[in-house]
This record gives sequence, C-alpha cells and structure tokens, in this order.
Amino acid sequence: TSLFAGIQDAPLDPIMRLFEAFNADTRPGKLNLAIGVYTDAEGKVPRLRAVQEAERRWIDKALPKTYRPIEGTKPFRDAVQALLFGSGAAILGESRAATLQSVGGTGALKMGADVLARLKPGATVAVSDPTWENHRALFAQAGFTVVDYPYFSADTGGVDYGAMRAALERLPAGAIVVLHACCHNPTGADLTAEEWADLVPLMAERGLIPFLDIAYQGFGLGLDADAAPVRRFAESGQEFLVASSFSKSFSLYGERVGALTIVAADSSLRAKVEALAKRLVRASYSNPHTHGAAIVETVLTDPALRADWERELAEMRERIQAMRVRMADSLQQRHPDRGFAAIKVQKGMFSYTGLTPDEATRLREDHEVYALETGRVCVAALNAHNIDRVLDAIDAVAR
Ligand code: PLP
Repeated sequence: TSLFAGIQDAPLDPIMRLFEAFNADTRPGKLNLAIGVYTDAEGKVPRLRAVQEAERRWIDKALPKTYRPIEGTKPFRDAVQALLFGSGAAILGESRAATLQSVGGTGALKMGADVLARLKPGATVAVSDPTWENHRALFAQAGFTVVDYPYFSADTGGVDYGAMRAALERLPAGAIVVLHACCHNPTGADLTAEEWADLVPLMAERGLIPFLDIAYQGFGLGLDADAAPVRRFAESGQEFLVASSFSKSFSLYGERVGALTIVAADSSLRAKVEALAKRLVRASYSNPHTHGAAIVETVLTDPALRADWERELAEMRERIQAMRVRMADSLQQRHPDRGFAAIKVQKGMFSYTGLTPDEATRLREDHEVYALETGRVCVAALNAHNIDRVLDAIDAVAR
C-alpha cells in the first residue's frame, strides 16, 4: 500500500477555497472582496514609490547574494523594533527584545509557536472568536490545544470586551493569548485604549502569555497609534511576543517579509531565547531571504524613502476610510435596522458586514461579488469604479 493512502482528506480553509472558485469563475464582472489584498483607486495592487526606488538602488548596487544572518541584518531588526516600540522608546536601550526576520507574518507566528512549544509544550492557546483562519491551524500544528475567547459582538459590530475579559480570567496560568494589535482580521473591530489599559495588567496578573499579531500597522489610525498596544505591553515590563507582517504595509505580499519580536524580562534571558529561536530557524529553513527584507530595510532607514512610504501608507489608509464611510452611510440609509453603521467605526482592510451565509452566497451567485460566508468583506478592494455596484448588490441580497 502507498505511504500516502492513509492521509485524511481535509478542506482548504474557506479563503483559499473561495480564491480557487474565483479563479475558476469565467464571468467577466467577477469581483473578489474575499481575499485580503489592498487595491488602489484603479483596482490594482500598488507598487509603492519608495519600494520601487529601493529596488532600483538594490539592483544598481549589484551586491553579492550571499547568506543572510539567521536572524536578519541588524539595521532591519533595529528598524522593526523602532517601528513597533517608537524611535525613542526605553525598551530599545534595554536590550531585552530580540527581533528575527521571518517569512512574512505567518512565519513569525510559526517561529513564535515553535519557540513556545519548547517552553510550554501542550499549553492552551486562546484565539479570538472569530480570528484569521490560519491562527487555529498554525498553533494546532505546533502541538497546542487551541480554544477561543469571545470577541465580536454582532449586536454592536464592536468588541464584547466584558465577555472577552471574563473568558481570559478563566484561562489557566501559562496559557498563550493571541491578540490582534490593530485592524482585527476578520471583523475590523478593535479594543479601545481603555480596554487595552485594562487588559495589559490583567495578562500579567493572570500569568498569561501575550502573543500580539500586527499585520496591518499603519492601516488603522496610523503607524504609531496602531502600535500603541505593543508599546503598552513593553512599558508594563512583562514578557510577550509580537509577529509583524510587512505584506500589506509595503504591498510586498509575495516577498514574504515579516519579523518575530520576543520580549524577555532582561537582556540575559533575551539572549537565551534569541539563541533558541536561531537554533529552530537553522533546522527549519536555515536563513531568511534577502530581497524583500533588503527593500524594507532601505525604505525604513532612508529618511526620504521613509517619508514617502509613510505618505503613501497614509493615502492607502485614508482611501479605505473613505470607502468605509460611503459603504456605511449608503447601506445604513437603505437598511437602518442592519447595523451597517459599524463599518465606519471598524478599522483596517476588513469588515464584518453582518451579511448571512445565504446572503453571501447570493452575492456571489447572482451578483458576481465574492465575500466570505461569514459576511467579511475586504473594504480595501472597493473603489469609485466598483463601489456602487457592490452596494446595490448588498442592498439587493439584504432585502
Ligand atoms: N496575521 C493576520 C491577522 C493576517 O491577517 C495575516 C494575513 O492575512 C497574517 C497574519 C499573515 O501575514 P503574511 O501574509 O505576511 O504571512
């Protein structure tokens, strides 16, 4: 018998399944609001100006493509820390945070999960209900028991913080809690500053291990404001992990640029955990890639490119916000009882619109508009050319 005959069939996650169905759809008007990619006012995945300039410089230099350090270069790691913690942050001088270049945000989560699996084998990992599809699979595959904590309130379109807090209080000490720092995927609902102020000390009191996922820094309120929860944890003095992704903020999805930051109590503990992470990487993929990280490093460290990147990121953020306002106002007016107004308050690339699975199916079948069955739409894929059609289609299926 074949070695592979015993493999259980398992479905792809819903996003990948819809992506394949979308690709196979031959209708010319098909529109994909299911995938998490930002497109510009013309519906194109942007090539950011600063990224293009950094790439030109990189090619002109024609540097040898030798191996990169296991943890990535120091300028890259320093730039990631400054972006997370703020350039003047006290923690930058304490040498208790280790940053390692990773294979996108997913690779950062995976590397963090592998490190934690050595330290807390079989621990419970709590993820928000709902969360990014891959969190559950990724932590389960690393050997953890994955549970969820209440998060989204369909009634308000925001976070049910009371229920979330109560569930976290019931977790055993040593449980790992995955938190979206900003721009929650899939709902767009974020904790308020007051809720973070309550949650950060609670995590320490209960002995919970925070693992922050920040895949959309710059898409919510701005680069600094979006990292406020990370900075709050840093100031609290507790140990935690952060997975950064630069896929969206640099529009460099396929280059797979990200970083894992592990914050330890002091610099000698940081050295120990950094060495462990490096050993795990060495036995996994040995060294990270060069190109994408070199581009991000150049943009983050060259003042002119940095300023231009921040401008273009702000343009993306403001464009999404404009789409949110149009969507919320138009749908709220047509269906005042459906809670569509929350779309305007939600942050980042996605919104939980409150559309039912049946409505999402009709949106796809009758109107060629792909949304997730959960009602998640990618607001960042809307533009002046397609928004009226999308709003009319949602209006029609919501009747
Ligand atoms: N975390 C969240 C919450 C995400 O939404 C995503 C991407 O969709 C990731 C992590 C993974 O990012 P990357 O594509 O850089 O691996």
